[in-house]
Amino acid sequence: MISSVITIIGAGPAGCTAAMALSKAGIPCTIIDQAIFPRDKVCGDALSGKVVLTLKRLHDDFPNQLGNDNNNLASHGVTFIAPNGKELNVPFRREMDLTTPPGFLSKRIHFDNWLFEQTKSSPHVNIITGVRIEKFEKKDTTWTLSDKERKTIIESQLIIAADGAQSRFAKQYGGIIPEADHFCAGLRAYYKGVKGLDKMGFIELHFVKEFLPGYFWIFPLPNGDANVGVGMRSDVVGRKKINLKDEMLHLIATHPILKGRFADATIDGTLHGYGLPLGSKKRKISGDGFLLLGDAASLIDPFTGEGIGNAMISGLKAAEIIISKWKDKNFDAENLKAYDIEVYKRLWPELNLSKKMQELVKYPWLFNLIVNKANRSKTLKETISCMFEDIDLRSRLKDPFFYLKVLFE
Ligand SMILES: Cc1cc2nc3c(=O)[nH]c(=O)nc-3n(C[C@H](O)[C@H](O)[C@H](O)COP(=O)(O)OP(=O)(O)OC[C@H]3O[C@@H](n4cnc5c(N)ncnc54)[C@H](O)[C@@H]3O)c2cc1C
Repeated sequence: MISSVITIIGAGPAGCTAAMALSKAGIPCTIIDQAIFPRDKVCGDALSGKVVLTLKRLHDDFPNQLGNDNNNLASHGVTFIAPNGKELNVPFRREMDLTTPPGFLSKRIHFDNWLFEQTKSSPHVNIITGVRIEKFEKKDTTWTLSDKERKTIIESQLIIAADGAQSRFAKQYGGIIPEADHFCAGLRAYYKGVKGLDKMGFIELHFVKEFLPGYFWIFPLPNGDANVGVGMRSDVVGRKKINLKDEMLHLIATHPILKGRFADATIDGTLHGYGLPLGSKKRKISGDGFLLLGDAASLIDPFTGEGIGNAMISGLKAAEIIISKWKDKNFDAENLKAYDIEVYKRLWPELNLSKKMQELVKYPWLFNLIVNKANRSKTLKETISCMFEDIDLRSRLKDPFFYLKVLFE
């Protein structure tokens, strides 16, 4: 039997961030993962500026380490390809306090392993891997966690559930039931030999008319490899009975531009699917003796599909709340609800705006119009460039004077 005041389930970006932030404050925890690292995670592998900034908060040198690792490719922007085929290149804005590139592309098998190794070498962190937690029992203020065979038993006062999109804990205790209109289905494959990948690591988001409201992506990776995938909201997939795998392969084989770029490309491994729990709805993400983090708390951006940065931010917020309650160790629901407030104070303005922007892909003509216009308008281009990072600028989209300015520019 292991006794640990805090147990974190899941050593992905959310769990590792929480563990490292607690460790920095001298607070011990146990972090447990079913996988043995390095392990893969189905993802687009795009690390936004939000990830880089959060890493810097954990350790000043982390962004440099990311930049000096050949497993990672610097990413300087995004290219949107509108339904009419027109392209809009939008450079990412570099954060003022960063000397490294604004974003990176890194296969999760590498990035998560690097993060895991940093966590492992942090003081006060007890790591258990290769054990899947299946049972959670609570008596008074004590949780008992165990695997199926009860070979590993942990007693804790606080559970940090960072166990991803299929979190058992979030379902059982957090009451978070996946809802198709707040959930996205995603597919990812690695390809070799895709032509025309951007030299500056621009990621490509293709909004193909026949595939709307879904999107198709090509993200460049080191050594000329590419992460290729599709995403579509689960309610649409269900309603239209879409086979995402067939659609993705069909696009690659027949789309007038894509087929040429994939003419000599070969798939490396197989196609894998996984869900994206979207943060398009506020949820209760804490309760008596527990906090939900990252995908377990459904925090993925509904427009950009970005979840790593938000997961890491929730890890930082969880640590901040625990540090403030550590003295009296009162982890009741009332005391922990500050976590919900802090997470949504930071993330809700952009999640809410992204939810509205998700609507845009329903209207191809409007999308085309914006891309055409943005190619000519400095104001609009600047706004979109900051869209991924800066909520104040994104809020401009709600201001009627902004549109007037763009129209007359
Ligand atoms: C197709 C696709 C494309 C995406 N593209 C991007 C992208 O390009 N950029 C981006 O920022 N985000 C992207 N995301 C979202 C991103 O992958 C997630 O938001 C992110 O991984 C969330 O981190 P997390 O730590 O919450 O969960 P995870 O990374 O899923 O980690 C959860 C961990 O918990 C462990 N675990 C689960 N259950 C148990 C258990 N019972 N016991 C013990 N351990 C357990 C797992 O082994 C895992 O290590 C994408 C997602 C998908 C599906």
